[in-house]
Amino acid sequence: MKVLVIGKGAREHALCWRFSQSQKVWGLFCASGNPGISRTATQVDIEPTDIDSLARFAESEKIDLTVVGSENPLALGIADEFERRELPIFGPTKAATQLEASKSFAKTLMREAGVPTAEWETFDDANAARHYVKGHRRPLVVKADGLALGKGVTVCDNADSALAAITDAMEKKCFGEAGARVVVEDRLTGDELSFFALCNGEDAISLGAVQDHKAAYDGDLGPNTGGMGAYCPVPAYNTQFDERVMSQVVRPTLAAMVAHGTPFKGVLFAGLMVDGERIAVLEFNTRFGDPECEPLMMRFEGDLAETLFAVAQGRMHDVSFKLSPRSAATVVLASGGYPGDYHKGLPITGLEQIDGAEPSEVKVRWAMDKIRVKAFHAGTALRDGQLVTDGGRVLAVTAMAEKLERAVDAAYEAAGMIHFERKQMRRDIARRALDSVARRG
Ligand code: AMP
Repeated sequence: MKVLVIGKGAREHALCWRFSQSQKVWGLFCASGNPGISRTATQVDIEPTDIDSLARFAESEKIDLTVVGSENPLALGIADEFERRELPIFGPTKAATQLEASKSFAKTLMREAGVPTAEWETFDDANAARHYVKGHRRPLVVKADGLALGKGVTVCDNADSALAAITDAMEKKCFGEAGARVVVEDRLTGDELSFFALCNGEDAISLGAVQDHKAAYDGDLGPNTGGMGAYCPVPAYNTQFDERVMSQVVRPTLAAMVAHGTPFKGVLFAGLMVDGERIAVLEFNTRFGDPECEPLMMRFEGDLAETLFAVAQGRMHDVSFKLSPRSAATVVLASGGYPGDYHKGLPITGLEQIDGAEPSEVKVRWAMDKIRVKAFHAGTALRDGQLVTDGGRVLAVTAMAEKLERAVDAAYEAAGMIHFERKQMRRDIARRALDSVARRG
């Protein structure tokens, strides 16, 4: 099979890395890729949003399967265009991507489907939104309706901050047209989790829950980022939990999408808030999460190309993969200042000890301990043969081991061997889970 992956971050690197191990894949391409990806896939110099050029490339190369990493090409209708040209693609149509691209669409669908979610109202008029806030006693969250690069959500401590968030989104247009409409919803408490399922329209297969860490600094402090780390499986959430999410969230959502005339094919990513027995959906995304994809791909056992091809064709009975019962953890190395301003072009050193062809002492030790380590590239570039930083998130260092604690230790050991000026990372990835495992003894 010839496979094309669309995107240029650590998520796409993890997908390419897993595809490169598939027996069935003899041609692997990535548009537009990065220096890490170029070691496993042929880099194609087409931007992920240039749909016409991507479709022409897939046609001329006779690509058997295209997999889309990020939401923007999906929201622009890449799956519709590929389907129109009869090019196999794993990802939802533009209409089905509304689950992520419009919060009000997702909320209305959840209401129709009986999927548990916070109480909410949608507003196109700022005064009506303010009136709602003033009459409401419970804490609120204000969300720009459209795609706002993950920045359109304000979790409010009081009515004043909700009123300010409405003004910012609807009148100051801080998120452009994405904030012309807002969803105002009740603020929920509990554990936040990401949940993934491979969907073919009517049916779905669970990939289970992954814990990510959104805040920039230790102790969940500081501004929200794209994600500073992740791990799975999540000790407190077992297969029974999986089945509850599949029956309360995933299957009813798919059924409602079919009834709506917009069947959902691809990766359904439900952002959940879990409080004891109560599960509520905070948001849907329509693709793999980044960094959640990295530990998931580490644990994926089976042929990824065959799996996604079978799901794309609706042949769920042909899908046979397993997720390793071992634990995988990802630590993101970011540029100092991220998610605010940061420098680019800073030299990165130390990666060869982890990723190089030469056997290093640490690699031998990890191999003896059955620990797998991989540094997925997020924002890197090559300048005159030197690897340099080229984004807010630079590398997603991922390790897998028998126990979560060993995976986390190995990820941090590897992260400590990689250097660039003003390197920033969280030091407490999976800390809460490890503490509660230790408490349970
Ligand atoms: P979203 O893009 O809707 O997932 O929102 C981004 C982040 O805002 C989530 O990951 C949560 O941390 C937070 N958030 C969103 N909705 C709520 C809610 N109803 N209650 C509490 N926190 C929320």
